Amino acid sequence: MAFNIYYYESKVDCNNCKKNFTTYKVRPGRFKVVTQDTDFMPIYEGLNPMLYEVAVCPNCGYAFHKSLTRTYGPFMLLIREMYISQLQKPMNICKERTIDEAIASFKLVYLVARASMEESLIMANFAMKIAWLYRIKEDKESEMHYLRSARELYTKSFASNKEGEERLQYLNAELSLRLGDIEEAKRGFSRLIAGREVSNKYKNYARKRWEDYKYSNEEVKNEEIKKEEE
Ligand SMILES: [Zn+2]
Repeated sequence: MAFNIYYYESKVDCNNCKKNFTTYKVRPGRFKVVTQDTDFMPIYEGLNPMLYEVAVCPNCGYAFHKSLTRTYGPFMLLIREMYISQLQKPMNICKERTIDEAIASFKLVYLVARASMEESLIMANFAMKIAWLYRIKEDKESEMHYLRSARELYTKSFASNKEGEERLQYLNAELSLRLGDIEEAKRGFSRLIAGREVSNKYKNYARKRWEDYKYSNEEVKNEEIKKEEE
């Protein structure tokens, strides 16, 4: 096969059907994180490696992501019964992917995670990534749908440490703001800003986000007043 300057082929042994396949991954030199959105969506320069995070077996349709934990023994039986047996023809999305194919790959791994009853936090992160891909696609309605699912799953999630706990609190406030649930967002950000035990990192994130929101909201209001006066 010709050398591809953008991708390399990662070899995968399918955990379900045991066949081998290769799937594209973005070469490390082909992307750079330049900044992040307020809900931690990484903004890349160059290619977007998120499109290739999920490996999907072209033989049986099993979908795999590195964050999955229940991928053995009895869980594989559940995955076979609840996911594999329900699949139509498996997709072949092992080469260059469109945004829609990347969205499909995360929806498949979401179904795998649901079948094996993975923790809410893992499911929530998948819902977030689906929402981010819709954001890139500029499909606002679908983005909001998945942000709502993510928020619901995050409220059922438990973090394993203090930093993770603060991240969950922040995300709950942030997603509430994006979903237009302003009261809940305000409560969440205030708790982080005023909390004695809260780290400076999340205090600052919360303060900046809430101030930016209030400021841009006032701008909009002033614009409206100006228009009415004219
Ligand atoms: Zn397979």
